[in-house]
Amino acid sequence: MSRFHEVRFLTSVATPGQFPPDTGAEVAFAGRSNAGKSSAINAITQRRDLARTSKTPGRTRLLNYFALASARRLVDLPGYGYASVSAAERESWLPLLDELRSRASLKGVFVVVDSRRGLGEGDEALIEWSQGTPLHVLLSKADKLNRSQAAAALRDASAALAGCGTAQLFSSRAGTGVSEAQEVLAAWLGTAPGP
Ligand code: GDP
Repeated sequence: MSRFHEVRFLTSVATPGQFPPDTGAEVAFAGRSNAGKSSAINAITQRRDLARTSKTPGRTRLLNYFALASARRLVDLPGYGYASVSAAERESWLPLLDELRSRASLKGVFVVVDSRRGLGEGDEALIEWSQGTPLHVLLSKADKLNRSQAAAALRDASAALAGCGTAQLFSSRAGTGVSEAQEVLAAWLGTAPGP
């Protein structure tokens, strides 16, 4: 049984007025489009198709909230890095990010980064944005790397973070690092270690 087995879709947020009450604890998931964020959320919550967010460029960019037990929440942020996302569209969700960052209930941010690419420009902007909030980088699709490539990816990401956050190797496909990510999530949310 998953320690996050009570997860369910809560609400989508398109304007700063639509956030759920700022109580309890929440953790955000961010990442470049196609980094493997939805797969990571599904693997960590052990749900097959929880985070089926709209990924089509040009669609309304929403923050999707998922409720766990006891006023705990996950927030799935829009994937960044699509060249086709207009400046106007990016502008429209910046106020949402500012509102999110100001919430007392935001306990940490997971940044999903393709381990073959490493941290890029969008990731760095996100990391800068989240300063002051605990940060944990999931180096995704680690099943695509051999042992020395994986070690290098971890070393490079840790160096780039320069103490601003932690990083780990992760593969939703192979199951690598899922329990380590669950530990971080549980610690941030203040939930007891699960079964
Ligand atoms: P998102 O856009 O960041 O939410 O990314 P998705 O979770 O939809 O994944 C993007 C693509 O990467 C899909 O084709 C997935 O099948 C693939 N993918 C996701 N996780 C893994 C992984 O752990 N290993 C491999 N090899 N591919 C993955």
